Amino acid sequence: MFDVSKWQQIRTLLASLTPAREIRVIAVSKGQGVAEIRAAAEAGVRLFGESYVQEALEKQAQVGRTDLEWHFIGRIQRNKTRLIAAHFHWVHGVTEEGQARRLSEIRAGEGQTPLSVCLQVNISGEASKGGVSPAQLPELAEAVAQMPGVILRGLMAPPAPLLGGDEATRRHFAALRQQLEWLRAAGHALDTLSMGMSGDYPLALEEGATLLRLGTILFGRREN
Ligand SMILES: *Cc1c(COP(=O)(O)O)cnc(C)c1O
Repeated sequence: MFDVSKWQQIRTLLASLTPAREIRVIAVSKGQGVAEIRAAAEAGVRLFGESYVQEALEKQAQVGRTDLEWHFIGRIQRNKTRLIAAHFHWVHGVTEEGQARRLSEIRAGEGQTPLSVCLQVNISGEASKGGVSPAQLPELAEAVAQMPGVILRGLMAPPAPLLGGDEATRRHFAALRQQLEWLRAAGHALDTLSMGMSGDYPLALEEGATLLRLGTILFGRREN
């Protein structure tokens, strides 16, 4: 069940940061039912994150609100690209030029407003983590920035390494922020650092996150 008091606590924490900065929270509603999403929307949540296209589309239709902003945070499967482009406002986790190009073509071709995208960077270099390598990032950013149907907003961190404790997690986030700074220095106007989940968002905030992705802490355990 959506935890209104936890949501309010987090809002209060974000409002108290000094210096003040704008931080947005995505309520990650994958595995949660329509009633939970409605309850969250009633409490003022406007950003929702989903990882599975079919599940998301069914729930979007049932929730039936047009004032919500939907973020796709799952793996982008090629055969789902059209649905993702049509039914989401943001896509995190773009890792290849071809993905961005397909999203852009669909979006531009249908005359819709451009889709906001973040590039997922494989900061830790672990083979199991998806993402563009830091070495390939500048070239990918350059390509995506030229595409008419997408707007490059920033970078997304995959989950932090399990081992190494807080210090390793902090380094992980700091490394992503460094990549964002370099892209900015190269002339990209980027406003988003999508990092921090239920278990590590305080560290992500300290390291400059602008967009948190919170699931379990807001909704409790989920089905998938
Ligand atoms: C599920 C998921 C989250 C939310 O994780 P919690 O630990 O439940 O907060 C955030 N980001 C991504 C990419 C996810 O898949």
